[in-house]
Amino acid sequence: MASPSDIVVVGAGVVGCAVAYELARRGAAVQIVDDRVPGKGATQASAGVLAPFIEARDGGPLLELTARSLTLFDTFISQLVEDGETMAYQRTGTLDVAMQGQSLRQLSSTAALLAARGIEAEVLDAAATRRHEPELSEDVIGGLLITTHGFVRATELTRSLAAAARRRGARFVEPARVHTIAAAGSGLTVRTTDGVLSADWVVLAAGSWAGQVHVEGASNRIPVKPIRGQLLELGWVGPRLRRVLWGERCYMVPWTDGTVLVGATVEDAGFDERTTVAGVHDLIQAACDLVPRTWTATLTEVRAGLRPGTPDGIPIIGPSAALPNLMYATGHFRSGVLLSALTAQLVANAILDRVADPLLLFTDPQRFGDV
Ligand SMILES: Cc1cc2nc3c(=O)[nH]c(=O)nc-3n(C[C@H](O)[C@H](O)[C@H](O)COP(=O)(O)OP(=O)(O)OC[C@H]3O[C@@H](n4cnc5c(N)ncnc54)[C@H](O)[C@@H]3O)c2cc1C
Repeated sequence: MASPSDIVVVGAGVVGCAVAYELARRGAAVQIVDDRVPGKGATQASAGVLAPFIEARDGGPLLELTARSLTLFDTFISQLVEDGETMAYQRTGTLDVAMQGQSLRQLSSTAALLAARGIEAEVLDAAATRRHEPELSEDVIGGLLITTHGFVRATELTRSLAAAARRRGARFVEPARVHTIAAAGSGLTVRTTDGVLSADWVVLAAGSWAGQVHVEGASNRIPVKPIRGQLLELGWVGPRLRRVLWGERCYMVPWTDGTVLVGATVEDAGFDERTTVAGVHDLIQAACDLVPRTWTATLTEVRAGLRPGTPDGIPIIGPSAALPNLMYATGHFRSGVLLSALTAQLVANAILDRVADPLLLFTDPQRFGDV
């Protein structure tokens, strides 16, 4: 059963698939293990919004990471297209919308942050905001248009990454649950419910479940905590929304096929992946307040996923103290799709080229002790 490879990736969400694809693209022999079909963790619920200047508007390391990842996205997608894949990906911008004075002040400080970084953005009054999106509520008092933002269909991206990785020789081992990673000579063994794998390197990209994998020799478990998010999929009726709308209580993502996603709840519900009446109620209410036409839409699907949260809100990417050939790639919380391009590059550079990008100082697992 022991099957040697250069690198075993644990977890086939968007992060694991991006890492596996990048490693395989650069010539490594990769096996990727998951106990479900690829992309069925948090990733299947994701809205795929690519918006660092909203998600990380307070600045700090998360902004540095997400802003860098956004700059990689065109190339990340075009590599997949060259490899024969297709997926919905648009950079049509976001319209960040204020309905209260406090939000308007926040938009002004975001605009100042963008100006300082030379990023194009337009502060809009109420009338101009509604000219940009006529379907918005009349209660809107202002907006911020950030043209560099966009979205990608996360499920299609993950399917494409998995398919392209396979074509580049990556082998998927599923369903198999990894329970232990241990040293074995100069390499590592990965013990799963379906046997043992061996490798020179292991990348632990198991999202919210990363802390459940036993890392031999580590005194602490990686402190990743599941934070549930629920999201609605609506069949839209009437004029299409023009771009991603970001309100105070929800955001709305219009797909080209006429579907609109409404996200997302943020709930501390342990490992409970259920959708709930409360989640659906709150999202419908918020969406109807932002765009009244939502009342006429069809509710086609409700999804829930467990975002991998960390105590400081920064992902965990880098080597284990106990097993230096084990790289963590988890804790991406609300930005795993956006950060997938950067994470793949950081991990592949560290393993294949032995290049430690300065950004890894922010994401160092050892800020949480001996993990
Ligand atoms: C409602 C919602 C909306 C979101 N919207 C956005 C957005 O707009 N933009 C954005 O960038 N991000 C968004 N996110 C966040 C994003 O979805 C996550 O950060 C991202 O999906 C995390 O990817 P991952 O690969 O780390 O984890 P996951 O997708 O959870 O994948 C982890 C995988 O590991 C597998 N696994 C776990 N344990 C084991 C084990 N022991 N052995 C084998 N396999 C294992 C699981 O089965 C799973 O397939 C959203 C999330 C939610 C829930």
